[in-house]
Amino acid sequence: MAPVVTPAPYDLKNAITANRLLGLWRMLTGYRWLYLAATTSLAIAALAKTSTYLLLRHFVDNVLGRTADLVVLALMGLGFVGLALLEGGFSFLSGRLASLTAEGIALRLRTYLYDHIQRLTFAYHDNMQTGELIQRSTSDVDAIRRFFADQAIGMGRIVLLFGINFAAIWRLNMTLALVSVIIIPLIVVMSIFFFKRVSKAYEKYQEQEATLSTVLQENLTGVRVVKAFARQGYEREKFERENWGKFQRGKQLLTMHALFWPTSDILCGLQMLLGFTVGALMAINGTITVGAYLAYAGLIIWLIFPMRNLGRLIVQTSTGMVSYGRVVEVLSQEREPLTEGSYRPADDVRGEIEFRNVSFGYQADSPVLQEISFHVRPGESVALLGATGSGKTTLVNLLPRFYEYTGGSLTLDGVELKEYPREYLRRQIGIVEQEPFLFSRTIRDNITYGVGRDVPDEEVEAAARAAAIHDVILSFPEGHKTLVGEKGVTLSGGQRQRVAIARTLLKNPRILILDDSTSSVDTETEAEIRSALERLMEGRTTFIIAHRIQSLMNADQIIVLEKGKIIQRGTHEELVAQEGFYRQIYDLQARIESELAVELSVSGNGHGETANERHPHGIDV
Ligand code: ADP
Repeated sequence: MAPVVTPAPYDLKNAITANRLLGLWRMLTGYRWLYLAATTSLAIAALAKTSTYLLLRHFVDNVLGRTADLVVLALMGLGFVGLALLEGGFSFLSGRLASLTAEGIALRLRTYLYDHIQRLTFAYHDNMQTGELIQRSTSDVDAIRRFFADQAIGMGRIVLLFGINFAAIWRLNMTLALVSVIIIPLIVVMSIFFFKRVSKAYEKYQEQEATLSTVLQENLTGVRVVKAFARQGYEREKFERENWGKFQRGKQLLTMHALFWPTSDILCGLQMLLGFTVGALMAINGTITVGAYLAYAGLIIWLIFPMRNLGRLIVQTSTGMVSYGRVVEVLSQEREPLTEGSYRPADDVRGEIEFRNVSFGYQADSPVLQEISFHVRPGESVALLGATGSGKTTLVNLLPRFYEYTGGSLTLDGVELKEYPREYLRRQIGIVEQEPFLFSRTIRDNITYGVGRDVPDEEVEAAARAAAIHDVILSFPEGHKTLVGEKGVTLSGGQRQRVAIARTLLKNPRILILDDSTSSVDTETEAEIRSALERLMEGRTTFIIAHRIQSLMNADQIIVLEKGKIIQRGTHEELVAQEGFYRQIYDLQARIESELAVELSVSGNGHGETANERHPHGIDV
């Protein structure tokens, strides 16, 4: 495994400020000395360059044609070579140090951002598109890296070169120095004007790029659906539209640059011409020596050249600043406090749960759960039944505090849920989703995900056996070490679910949440999953989101939800004996099953079939 690199520790929260430059300055924390060294190297390189021209002047005015002393000539030669070496060496050093700083800052920022994103609330992730988050963690961080590697150091280089060369020209001749910078204010004003426009254009460009990555990511994730519905044409059009949008915005951005460069080049050219002319006239008049003119001709290039770059850098800096803004927008989101909570039991919970008039809504004005009340004893099972959108998932999502209930009281072992730290609570709860997510790692890594890799093999195998997946795993080429996903085996829906059950068994939580999806697999697998689930449920308080009567008949308590309210509650026997929603569903499923049985006996072919019709309420029957 690659070693974990820990960049200088620093809480990037401090770098959040409305002033983007100040924010970027704060991001430098821990790297300022390195950056200072980079700037100093730059200053030395700039001084060496300027000195070269001053030495040239001395050579032309005082040495050339006046002495034939070989030693003096050799010393002059050595001086030129030495200065060139000094300049080259320190330029290189400065570049190295600046990129070290920039890479270090980017490394730290990416790690921090990644960790931050995975700690944000569910509500934030619900509303934020994955493509946006990927864009901000990659392309935007990279723009910030470039800001430190190229733009900030480049800015320092310009200021230094300008200052040093201006001073050197000033020493040659004051008038000449003033003439040499006469157009510069114009260049600065123009750069600032473009800076503002480019910032806006770049912001739009980044937004569009994020939209495009979202579309791409969504299409790739949903590639099966796209294929199944043969909607490639539609998806292609959607992608083309966003891609075209990116092209347009990129074009706008480039047009801006294309306008800026020639304008600034013309201005710089004019400035240089003016300097050369005035300098030449002065040399002809004898106001300055020929050596001074030669030196000036070199110096003015190094005065104007950086100014030309200043414009470019000011414009490019805008990308760093915009990206800083986009990253900070994520950084300033509140994290989900995982450890906050006044109640810290030493042991595991027993699993007694009581809902008393609990209500909840994702938005304040539209309640999704209303006045929910029921009591579950430790080890009991509760099945939730109801049409799609009736609030079953929302109800179970309150238990690990993925969302906070807004009204009433919800207790675990008699203590209000809000008093438990989320981290503790989530350790006590195991969730098997309808379509469990497995990582593209080995099967073993997936099974041990909740407890860490160090678990002995026997325990992993025992969990796999209890989840009725061990034999399947052994049939793979590398057993438990087989990779899942792209580079390894592709697991069927039922197999994935059993791996998820093994993962939860190993975690050994007191409370279980099962999103029962046995309706989507064939009957043989269904029986295996059901027995695996039964082993998983033993002795644990269990919530089952059920889609079929068969999955919930044995539950100690059945709760029927409609539009966020409990409309029926009781055991299977009690509910079947009453008029109501439950009986309707029960009758319907029984009828379909008996019809199916008749049909199957007629056709004499009954393997691996399931009833997959849907009730108008949206429940599998
Ligand atoms: P069920 O699991 O019974 O199908 P849900 O609990 O998923 O129902 O949904 C209940 C209601 O809450 C639905 O109207 C749904 O649109 C809404 N809802 C579910 N999840 C969110 C969410 N993350 N943000 C906003 N509304 C949601």
